[in-house]
Amino acid sequence: MRRENTQVVPLGKMNVGGHNPIWVEAMGRQHPKNVERCLAEITLAQEAGCEIFRLAVPDEDALQGLARMKPHLDIPLIADVHFRLDLGIQAALLGVEAIRINPGTIGKKEHLAQLVEVLRSWNTTLRLGANTGSLPPRWKKTDRVKALLESLREIVHFFEQKGVTKIILSAKSTEIEETILIYEQLSTSFPYPLHIGLTEAGSGVEGIIKSSIALGILLREGIGNNIRVSLTASTPILETKVAWSILESLKLRHRNIEIISCPTCARKRGNVVSLVQELKKRTKHMEIKKPVKIAIMGCEVNGPGEAKEADWGIALSKGEKAVLFAKGEIVTVVSQKEALTKLLERAIPSIIE
Ligand code: SF4
Repeated sequence: MRRENTQVVPLGKMNVGGHNPIWVEAMGRQHPKNVERCLAEITLAQEAGCEIFRLAVPDEDALQGLARMKPHLDIPLIADVHFRLDLGIQAALLGVEAIRINPGTIGKKEHLAQLVEVLRSWNTTLRLGANTGSLPPRWKKTDRVKALLESLREIVHFFEQKGVTKIILSAKSTEIEETILIYEQLSTSFPYPLHIGLTEAGSGVEGIIKSSIALGILLREGIGNNIRVSLTASTPILETKVAWSILESLKLRHRNIEIISCPTCARKRGNVVSLVQELKKRTKHMEIKKPVKIAIMGCEVNGPGEAKEADWGIALSKGEKAVLFAKGEIVTVVSQKEALTKLLERAIPSIIE
Protein backbone atom coordinates (compact mmCIF):
# COMPACT_ATOMS: atom_id res chain seq x y z
CA MET A 1 0.00 0.00 0.00
CA ARG A 2 2.89 2.43 0.61
CA ARG A 3 5.05 3.85 -2.16
CA GLU A 4 8.34 3.64 -0.30
CA ASN A 5 10.73 3.90 -3.19
CA THR A 6 10.82 7.70 -3.28
CA GLN A 7 13.91 9.61 -2.41
CA VAL A 8 14.14 10.75 1.19
CA VAL A 9 14.25 14.52 1.46
CA PRO A 10 15.09 16.36 4.69
CA LEU A 11 12.77 18.99 6.07
CA GLY A 12 14.69 20.40 9.00
CA LYS A 13 15.07 17.54 11.50
CA MET A 14 12.34 15.58 9.75
CA ASN A 15 12.65 13.35 6.69
CA VAL A 16 9.98 13.11 4.03
CA GLY A 17 9.54 10.15 1.67
CA GLY A 18 10.80 6.57 1.64
CA HIS A 19 9.84 4.62 4.76
CA ASN A 20 9.09 7.73 6.79
CA PRO A 21 5.57 8.33 8.10
CA ILE A 22 3.12 10.26 5.95
CA TRP A 23 3.31 13.66 7.63
CA VAL A 24 0.39 16.00 8.23
CA GLU A 25 0.79 19.52 6.89
CA ALA A 26 -1.46 22.51 7.50
CA MET A 27 -1.43 26.07 6.27
CA GLY A 28 -1.71 29.23 8.35
CA ARG A 29 -4.57 31.69 7.96
CA GLN A 30 -2.87 34.56 9.78
CA HIS A 31 -0.53 37.06 8.17
CA PRO A 32 2.97 36.44 9.64
CA LYS A 33 3.21 40.13 10.55
CA ASN A 34 0.70 39.33 13.34
CA VAL A 35 3.31 37.41 15.26
CA GLU A 36 1.34 36.59 18.39
CA ARG A 37 -1.74 35.44 16.49
CA CYS A 38 0.40 33.44 14.15
CA LEU A 39 2.28 31.70 16.97
CA ALA A 40 -1.00 30.90 18.72
CA GLU A 41 -2.38 29.45 15.49
CA ILE A 42 0.67 27.26 15.00
CA THR A 43 0.52 26.02 18.61
CA LEU A 44 -3.13 25.03 18.22
CA ALA A 45 -2.42 23.33 14.92
CA GLN A 46 0.45 21.39 16.51
CA GLU A 47 -1.82 20.31 19.35
CA ALA A 48 -4.26 19.02 16.74
CA GLY A 49 -1.45 17.02 15.12
CA CYS A 50 0.08 19.31 12.51
CA GLU A 51 3.68 18.28 11.80
CA ILE A 52 4.64 20.66 8.99
CA PHE A 53 3.37 24.23 8.85
CA ARG A 54 3.09 26.31 5.69
CA LEU A 55 2.94 30.07 5.82
CA ALA A 56 2.19 32.47 3.01
CA VAL A 57 4.92 35.10 2.76
CA PRO A 58 3.37 37.80 0.60
CA ASP A 59 5.46 40.84 1.55
CA GLU A 60 8.31 42.32 3.58
CA ASP A 61 6.12 42.61 6.69
CA ALA A 62 5.69 38.85 6.59
CA LEU A 63 9.47 38.43 6.56
CA GLN A 64 9.80 40.61 9.62
CA GLY A 65 7.17 38.56 11.43
CA LEU A 66 8.89 35.35 10.34
CA ALA A 67 12.20 36.60 11.74
CA ARG A 68 10.56 37.16 15.14
CA MET A 69 8.66 33.89 15.12
CA LYS A 70 11.21 31.42 13.85
CA PRO A 71 13.30 31.12 17.05
CA HIS A 72 10.15 30.15 19.00
CA LEU A 73 9.07 27.34 16.69
CA ASP A 74 9.93 23.66 16.75
CA ILE A 75 7.95 22.66 13.66
CA PRO A 76 9.31 22.66 10.09
CA LEU A 77 8.14 25.78 8.28
CA ILE A 78 7.48 26.09 4.57
CA ALA A 79 7.47 29.65 3.23
CA ASP A 80 5.00 29.91 0.38
CA VAL A 81 5.82 32.60 -2.19
CA HIS A 82 4.21 33.71 -5.42
CA PHE A 83 5.77 36.11 -7.94
CA ARG A 84 8.41 37.18 -5.36
CA LEU A 85 11.29 34.73 -5.33
CA ASP A 86 13.25 37.41 -3.48
CA LEU A 87 10.92 36.86 -0.48
CA GLY A 88 11.58 33.12 -0.66
CA ILE A 89 15.31 33.76 -0.70
CA GLN A 90 15.03 35.98 2.39
CA ALA A 91 12.83 33.40 4.13
CA ALA A 92 15.48 30.73 3.49
CA LEU A 93 18.09 33.03 5.01
CA LEU A 94 15.85 33.27 8.09
CA GLY A 95 16.08 29.50 8.43
CA VAL A 96 12.74 28.20 7.16
CA GLU A 97 13.02 24.54 6.31
CA ALA A 98 11.51 24.78 2.81
CA ILE A 99 10.46 27.26 0.18
CA ARG A 100 7.37 26.54 -1.85
CA ILE A 101 7.22 28.00 -5.32
CA ASN A 102 4.70 27.46 -8.08
CA PRO A 103 6.01 27.04 -11.65
CA GLY A 104 3.10 29.22 -12.80
CA THR A 105 3.89 32.16 -10.49
CA ILE A 106 7.66 32.42 -10.48
CA GLY A 107 7.76 36.12 -11.32
CA LYS A 108 11.11 37.63 -12.21
CA LYS A 109 13.45 34.92 -13.48
CA GLU A 110 16.51 36.93 -12.47
CA HIS A 111 16.11 35.72 -8.88
CA LEU A 112 16.25 32.05 -9.86
CA ALA A 113 20.06 31.85 -9.80
CA GLN A 114 20.17 33.40 -6.34
CA LEU A 115 17.47 31.04 -5.10
CA VAL A 116 19.53 28.07 -6.35
CA GLU A 117 22.55 29.41 -4.49
CA VAL A 118 20.64 29.85 -1.25
CA LEU A 119 18.91 26.45 -1.45
CA ARG A 120 22.26 24.77 -1.92
CA SER A 121 24.23 26.62 0.70
CA TRP A 122 21.46 26.69 3.34
CA ASN A 123 20.35 23.11 2.86
CA THR A 124 16.80 24.34 2.34
CA THR A 125 14.27 22.04 0.71
CA LEU A 126 12.40 23.15 -2.38
CA ARG A 127 8.73 22.39 -2.65
CA LEU A 128 7.56 22.74 -6.20
CA GLY A 129 3.81 23.01 -6.16
CA ALA A 130 1.92 23.35 -9.43
CA ASN A 131 -1.75 24.09 -9.56
CA THR A 132 -4.37 23.86 -12.32
CA GLY A 133 -5.50 27.38 -11.43
CA SER A 134 -2.10 28.92 -12.10
CA LEU A 135 -0.50 27.14 -15.00
CA PRO A 136 2.37 28.89 -16.80
CA PRO A 137 0.83 30.85 -19.74
CA ARG A 138 2.26 28.68 -22.51
CA TRP A 139 0.67 25.53 -21.02
CA LYS A 140 -2.80 27.01 -20.65
CA LYS A 141 -4.16 25.56 -23.91
CA THR A 142 -2.81 22.06 -23.24
CA ASP A 143 -4.71 19.26 -21.51
CA ARG A 144 -4.52 20.21 -17.81
CA VAL A 145 -3.01 16.98 -16.54
CA LYS A 146 -0.36 17.09 -19.23
CA ALA A 147 0.22 20.80 -18.63
CA LEU A 148 0.81 20.29 -14.90
CA LEU A 149 3.12 17.39 -15.50
CA GLU A 150 5.14 19.11 -18.21
CA SER A 151 5.44 22.40 -16.33
CA LEU A 152 6.79 20.49 -13.35
CA ARG A 153 9.10 18.40 -15.52
CA GLU A 154 10.57 21.57 -16.97
CA ILE A 155 11.22 23.26 -13.63
CA VAL A 156 12.46 20.09 -11.92
CA HIS A 157 14.93 19.67 -14.79
CA PHE A 158 16.11 23.28 -14.32
CA PHE A 159 16.82 22.78 -10.60
CA GLU A 160 18.38 19.33 -11.09
CA GLN A 161 20.78 20.80 -13.64
CA LYS A 162 21.84 23.31 -10.98
CA GLY A 163 22.40 20.59 -8.38
CA VAL A 164 19.22 21.15 -6.36
CA THR A 165 17.68 17.74 -5.63
CA LYS A 166 16.07 18.17 -2.21
CA ILE A 167 12.69 18.51 -3.81
CA ILE A 168 9.13 17.71 -2.76
CA LEU A 169 6.51 17.86 -5.50
CA SER A 170 2.84 18.60 -5.65
CA ALA A 171 0.39 19.21 -8.48
CA LYS A 172 -3.12 20.02 -7.43
CA SER A 173 -6.50 20.33 -9.03
CA THR A 174 -9.94 21.11 -7.66
CA GLU A 175 -11.29 17.96 -9.36
CA ILE A 176 -11.03 14.55 -7.72
CA GLU A 177 -10.58 12.59 -10.93
CA GLU A 178 -7.97 15.01 -12.28
CA THR A 179 -6.08 15.00 -8.97
CA ILE A 180 -5.86 11.22 -9.00
CA LEU A 181 -4.70 11.13 -12.62
CA ILE A 182 -2.07 13.81 -12.02
CA TYR A 183 -0.60 12.12 -8.96
CA GLU A 184 -0.61 8.68 -10.58
CA GLN A 185 1.52 10.16 -13.34
CA LEU A 186 3.73 12.14 -10.96
CA SER A 187 4.45 9.02 -8.94
CA THR A 188 5.82 7.19 -11.96
CA SER A 189 7.58 10.21 -13.48
CA PHE A 190 9.66 11.53 -10.57
CA PRO A 191 11.65 9.96 -7.73
CA TYR A 192 10.80 12.76 -5.30
CA PRO A 193 8.39 12.60 -2.36
CA LEU A 194 4.91 13.85 -3.10
CA HIS A 195 2.85 16.28 -1.09
CA ILE A 196 -0.76 15.41 -1.90
CA GLY A 197 -3.93 17.42 -1.62
CA LEU A 198 -7.06 18.49 -3.44
CA THR A 199 -6.91 22.24 -3.79
CA GLU A 200 -9.79 24.50 -2.77
CA ALA A 201 -11.93 21.56 -1.71
CA GLY A 202 -14.54 23.89 -0.21
CA SER A 203 -15.91 23.95 3.30
CA GLY A 204 -17.66 21.69 5.78
CA VAL A 205 -18.92 18.25 4.92
CA GLU A 206 -18.55 18.72 1.14
CA GLY A 207 -14.90 19.75 1.43
CA ILE A 208 -14.11 16.95 3.84
CA ILE A 209 -15.75 14.35 1.62
CA LYS A 210 -14.04 15.57 -1.56
CA SER A 211 -10.64 15.60 0.12
CA SER A 212 -11.19 12.24 1.77
CA ILE A 213 -12.14 10.58 -1.51
CA ALA A 214 -9.20 12.02 -3.45
CA LEU A 215 -6.58 11.51 -0.76
CA GLY A 216 -8.02 8.16 0.32
CA ILE A 217 -7.76 6.75 -3.20
CA LEU A 218 -4.22 8.07 -3.67
CA LEU A 219 -3.01 6.81 -0.31
CA ARG A 220 -4.62 3.42 -0.98
CA GLU A 221 -2.59 3.33 -4.20
CA GLY A 222 0.54 4.00 -2.15
CA ILE A 223 0.90 7.57 -3.35
CA GLY A 224 1.69 10.47 -1.02
CA ASN A 225 4.38 11.29 1.54
CA ASN A 226 2.75 14.21 3.25
CA ILE A 227 -0.80 15.44 3.07
CA ARG A 228 -2.73 18.63 3.39
CA VAL A 229 -6.48 18.91 3.47
CA SER A 230 -7.45 22.27 2.01
CA LEU A 231 -10.67 23.47 3.67
CA THR A 232 -12.30 26.88 3.85
CA ALA A 233 -12.15 27.51 7.59
CA SER A 234 -10.87 30.28 9.79
CA THR A 235 -8.20 28.11 11.43
CA PRO A 236 -6.08 25.14 10.33
CA ILE A 237 -7.43 22.93 13.13
CA LEU A 238 -10.17 21.16 11.18
CA GLU A 239 -7.95 20.42 8.19
CA THR A 240 -5.37 18.90 10.54
CA LYS A 241 -7.96 16.70 12.22
CA VAL A 242 -9.39 15.58 8.90
CA ALA A 243 -5.91 14.72 7.59
CA TRP A 244 -5.32 12.54 10.64
CA SER A 245 -8.70 10.87 10.28
CA ILE A 246 -7.91 9.97 6.68
CA LEU A 247 -4.54 8.47 7.66
CA GLU A 248 -5.99 6.65 10.64
CA SER A 249 -8.95 5.30 8.67
CA LEU A 250 -6.48 3.72 6.25
CA LYS A 251 -4.35 2.48 9.18
CA LEU A 252 -1.36 4.41 7.85
CA ARG A 253 -0.80 6.30 11.12
CA HIS A 254 -2.33 6.19 14.55
CA ARG A 255 -2.58 9.14 16.88
CA ASN A 256 -5.94 8.89 18.54
CA ILE A 257 -7.92 6.03 19.89
CA GLU A 258 -10.08 4.59 17.15
CA ILE A 259 -13.68 4.91 18.23
CA ILE A 260 -16.30 2.54 16.90
CA SER A 261 -19.80 3.71 17.68
CA CYS A 262 -23.21 2.69 16.48
CA PRO A 263 -25.54 5.16 14.75
CA THR A 264 -28.20 4.32 17.40
CA CYS A 265 -31.76 3.28 16.71
CA ALA A 266 -34.98 2.68 18.61
CA ARG A 267 -33.20 -0.02 20.68
CA LYS A 268 -30.73 2.41 22.24
CA ARG A 269 -30.59 2.38 26.04
CA GLY A 270 -28.93 5.74 26.65
CA ASN A 271 -27.05 8.65 25.15
CA VAL A 272 -24.39 7.28 22.79
CA VAL A 273 -23.59 10.70 21.33
CA SER A 274 -22.58 12.28 24.64
CA LEU A 275 -20.60 9.20 25.66
CA VAL A 276 -18.61 9.34 22.42
CA GLN A 277 -17.97 13.07 22.91
CA GLU A 278 -16.82 12.45 26.47
CA LEU A 279 -14.53 9.61 25.35
CA LYS A 280 -12.95 11.90 22.74
CA LYS A 281 -12.47 14.63 25.34
CA ARG A 282 -10.87 12.33 27.88
CA THR A 283 -8.49 10.65 25.43
CA LYS A 284 -7.58 13.70 23.32
CA HIS A 285 -4.19 14.32 24.92
CA MET A 286 -3.29 10.70 25.58
CA GLU A 287 -0.08 9.50 24.07
CA ILE A 288 -1.16 6.36 22.26
CA LYS A 289 1.60 3.78 21.94
CA LYS A 290 -0.26 1.29 19.78
CA PRO A 291 -3.49 1.22 17.77
CA VAL A 292 -6.51 0.67 19.98
CA LYS A 293 -10.22 0.51 19.26
CA ILE A 294 -12.90 1.43 21.78
CA ALA A 295 -16.56 0.80 20.99
CA ILE A 296 -19.56 2.69 22.30
CA MET A 297 -22.74 0.84 21.40
CA GLY A 298 -26.31 1.80 22.10
CA CYS A 299 -27.61 -1.57 23.32
CA GLU A 300 -26.40 -4.86 24.67
CA VAL A 301 -28.50 -6.92 22.22
CA ASN A 302 -26.26 -6.17 19.27
CA GLY A 303 -23.49 -4.06 20.82
CA PRO A 304 -20.79 -6.50 21.99
CA GLY A 305 -21.29 -8.77 19.00
CA GLU A 306 -21.23 -6.02 16.38
CA ALA A 307 -18.14 -4.48 17.93
CA LYS A 308 -16.23 -7.64 18.78
CA GLU A 309 -13.15 -6.43 16.93
CA ALA A 310 -12.88 -3.56 19.45
CA ASP A 311 -10.26 -3.96 22.17
CA TRP A 312 -12.66 -2.47 24.72
CA GLY A 313 -16.27 -1.42 24.60
CA ILE A 314 -19.37 -0.20 26.36
CA ALA A 315 -22.85 -1.42 25.45
CA LEU A 316 -25.66 0.48 27.10
CA SER A 317 -28.19 -1.63 28.92
CA LYS A 318 -31.64 -1.17 30.50
CA GLY A 319 -32.02 0.36 33.96
CA GLU A 320 -29.25 2.89 33.16
CA LYS A 321 -26.68 0.10 33.29
CA ALA A 322 -23.80 -0.49 30.90
CA VAL A 323 -21.98 -3.65 29.91
CA LEU A 324 -18.21 -3.37 29.62
CA PHE A 325 -16.68 -5.79 27.16
CA ALA A 326 -13.29 -6.67 25.73
CA LYS A 327 -12.96 -8.32 22.30
CA GLY A 328 -16.68 -9.15 22.39
CA GLU A 329 -16.54 -10.84 25.83
CA ILE A 330 -18.51 -9.28 28.69
CA VAL A 331 -16.22 -8.17 31.52
CA THR A 332 -18.60 -6.53 33.99
CA VAL A 333 -21.79 -4.50 34.37
CA VAL A 334 -21.66 -0.97 35.81
CA SER A 335 -23.91 2.08 35.91
CA GLN A 336 -23.97 4.23 32.75
CA LYS A 337 -22.69 7.18 34.78
CA GLU A 338 -19.47 5.44 35.74
CA ALA A 339 -19.10 3.34 32.57
CA LEU A 340 -16.49 5.49 30.84
CA THR A 341 -14.34 5.90 33.94
CA LYS A 342 -14.43 2.16 34.65
CA LEU A 343 -13.64 1.33 31.04
CA LEU A 344 -10.71 3.72 30.86
CA GLU A 345 -9.32 2.44 34.18
CA ARG A 346 -9.05 -0.98 32.57
CA ALA A 347 -8.06 0.13 29.08
CA ILE A 348 -5.57 2.94 29.72
CA PRO A 349 -2.61 0.84 30.93
CA SER A 350 -2.63 -1.15 27.68
CA ILE A 351 -3.06 2.04 25.60
CA ILE A 352 -0.17 4.09 26.94
CA GLU A 353 2.28 1.37 28.01
S1 SF4 B 1 -26.05 -1.28 18.71
FE1 SF4 B 1 -28.19 -1.35 19.37
S2 SF4 B 1 -28.81 0.80 19.52
FE2 SF4 B 1 -26.94 0.75 18.31
S3 SF4 B 1 -27.70 0.68 16.19
FE3 SF4 B 1 -27.28 -1.44 16.83
S4 SF4 B 1 -29.26 -2.16 17.57
FE4 SF4 B 1 -29.42 0.10 17.50
